[in-house]
Amino acid sequence: MVRAIVGANWGDEGKGKITDLCAENADIVVRFQGGANAGHTIINEHGRFALHQLPSGIFNKNTTNIIANGVALDINKLKAEIASVKEQGVEFNLLISERAQVLLPHHVLLDEYEEERLGDKKFGSTKSGIAPFYADKYSKVGIQVWELFEKDRLKEKLKGMYEKINIQFKYLYNKPEINYLEVFDILNGYADYIKDNVADTSGILRNAIKEGKTILLEGQLGSLKDTDHGIYPYVTSSSTLAGYAAVGAGIPPHEIKNITVITKAYSSAVGEGPFVSEIFGDEADELRKRGGDKGEFGATTGRPRRVGYFDTVATRYGCEIQGATEVCMTCLDVLSYLDEINVCVAYDINGEQTKDFPTTEALCKAKPVLKTFKGWKSDIRGITEYDKLPEEAKAYVEFIEKEIGFKIGMVSNGPKRNEILYR
Ligand code: GDP
Repeated sequence: MVRAIVGANWGDEGKGKITDLCAENADIVVRFQGGANAGHTIINEHGRFALHQLPSGIFNKNTTNIIANGVALDINKLKAEIASVKEQGVEFNLLISERAQVLLPHHVLLDEYEEERLGDKKFGSTKSGIAPFYADKYSKVGIQVWELFEKDRLKEKLKGMYEKINIQFKYLYNKPEINYLEVFDILNGYADYIKDNVADTSGILRNAIKEGKTILLEGQLGSLKDTDHGIYPYVTSSSTLAGYAAVGAGIPPHEIKNITVITKAYSSAVGEGPFVSEIFGDEADELRKRGGDKGEFGATTGRPRRVGYFDTVATRYGCEIQGATEVCMTCLDVLSYLDEINVCVAYDINGEQTKDFPTTEALCKAKPVLKTFKGWKSDIRGITEYDKLPEEAKAYVEFIEKEIGFKIGMVSNGPKRNEILYR
């Protein structure tokens, strides 16, 4: 059985926690897109972890973890991540696709230089090199993992590649040029580091499907950051959708039987771009401080996240575009301090109300139409059955379920693995 666990919104919905939970019964957990630019926070019996590229199945000894073809493989950061996880006593199996693409030093520099050049018009990039990486990939000038082991070919390729890049560095950005031989040495180090983990992961997955194994496909970020369907250009440079999981992992699309879409009981986003239900000032500071397990601050960058009310327009769209078979709402416990809880139920665009998610410019003009709910004002962590939640909390979940049009089958009422309510 293949299940995708993906985000309905801007990312940071709590996919890591839910993947870690579901991974207890999974044979394989796969990362199929994105790179080191976002983080999944996981809290379990081993401690608290911020994973960036490692799949969230690493805590289960019997699970094989795969970094698949669609990922932006940053070997430099992966090394540090593996070292830190191992330091905390976690041992795991990791396979890296021979066809995954390798993030190169100039991608990170280009990301920095371009944000600097854009000034006020910047995207709010995490400067992890993701956009330049995918640009090279789709321009067919990138380097796949197998190429690291073809030394002569690699050296020649880098020579040609950096001739062009250095023109850009020198004349567009006025920055120092890169010596391709230094990059060659770095890549040789990368090859030595990963050589025992490299495999035909797509073949392994196809065989695992034939053998009836349980496979989880773990998404990074969420629907609204998808390149094609998100808030362009305030998106990421890879597809965040379950539909792409088949491509990024290399398995038949029809094998994905379950698409579990994660949404948070309120909204949070990082980076620039329109955010209709955003809140500001003290109200936002309070929610930001109480959000997640340690406040709403980026797992990768530490940046304060923008926060807002739950947005049923964006979330219905986010769930539809993912093709949700089930929805999980996380962080319901975070809202326990509020007397009243607002939900954005429609957008007002130039005096007209809509429940359909519009394109970016219209989104910039949209004002939230709010509905106010009575808060439950009691700590709901520790409750182990959905029916035992306060009536107000159930009314909140059930209203949202109706508005988004998808069954909310799981409600998470705390960051720990066992803090989950099934409906
Ligand atoms: P991901 O990228 O989708 O995995 O999300 P992040 O890990 O970046 O952000 C989710 C945050 O919410 C993390 O700090 C989690 O520990 C935390 N979290 C997940 N589920 C819950 C929950 O039900 N309640 C609370 N309070 N925190 C949660």
